[in-house]
Amino acid sequence: MNENVIQTENLTKYYGQTRGIEQISLTVPRGDFFGFIGPNGAGKSTTIRTLLGLIRPTGGVAKLFGLDMINDREQILSRVGYLPSETSFYPGMRVRDVLKLSAELRGRGCTEAARLLCGRLQLDPARKVDELSLGNRKKTAIVCALQHNPDLLILDEPTNGLDPLMQREFFEILRERSAGGTTIFLSSHILSEIQHNCAHAAIIRDGRIIASGSVKDLSRTGARRVSIRGRMDYDALSGVKNLCISPDGADFLYNGDMQALLAVMANGTIRDVSITEPDLEEIFLHCYTDQRKADTNQPFQST
Ligand code: ADP
Repeated sequence: MNENVIQTENLTKYYGQTRGIEQISLTVPRGDFFGFIGPNGAGKSTTIRTLLGLIRPTGGVAKLFGLDMINDREQILSRVGYLPSETSFYPGMRVRDVLKLSAELRGRGCTEAARLLCGRLQLDPARKVDELSLGNRKKTAIVCALQHNPDLLILDEPTNGLDPLMQREFFEILRERSAGGTTIFLSSHILSEIQHNCAHAAIIRDGRIIASGSVKDLSRTGARRVSIRGRMDYDALSGVKNLCISPDGADFLYNGDMQALLAVMANGTIRDVSITEPDLEEIFLHCYTDQRKADTNQPFQST
């Protein structure tokens, strides 16, 4: 059996003249919890929709479970749970009808699984879908994606609209599924979600993968987050980014020589200092803005 649940090679999609994605090569092994990070418009949904055969690629290939989406569509889809970034339901239906229909489309009875998921997500199955809040629509779509216990979950911006308590419960469910062997592909523009939950990740920007690997490796960088209380001459240092000065001190990302930083601090009046590893969010911004700078040759601007 093929160990790679998702595999794409040079997957490319143009909408007419507009680039959706370009040369996306991804490998997600069975059982992985994989994050797909990128800002809005980067190409996450296009990748997912191409993977699922909802749109045809302009070039390249995508395989799920080692199977070809064009020839083995039915077989693949019976093993996949997909949560689209935007949900739409047939009007006039109740949540329970939507869940039943979704289960029937997969040829499975999932009543007990649906009941348990609705309970955990506090979703009332008797409610009419037309009257649901954004959060409850999202929960309905989550139950549709999860209730048949698929081998692969593809989740496109799943937490958008969920309140923080429900987000926590949702990720708890995902962690349980992951521990049970489900492969999870999670797209998000919220880096902390990826950092806290995923083992591996790929970063997409302007339709291309700009970095991929283990979340630990992606988080590893020479840059440090520096917080000081007191005063020092920041202009004497190169490698300072995202400088935020307050009356009490400053906070910045530092990518320069550590000895030089310590020397400038020694010349200042520092009451306290902390030097820590930046989180993935900062690294992403850093990487993203640096790349943009390299592309356009414009002076660096903090976003
Ligand atoms: P993300 O999911 O990361 O927000 P998308 O995959 O939706 O990004 O979009 C990637 C690029 O493709 C964007 O430039 C977007 O405007 C374009 N795009 C997406 N869908 C369409 C479409 N149906 N027609 C034309 N352009 C599209």
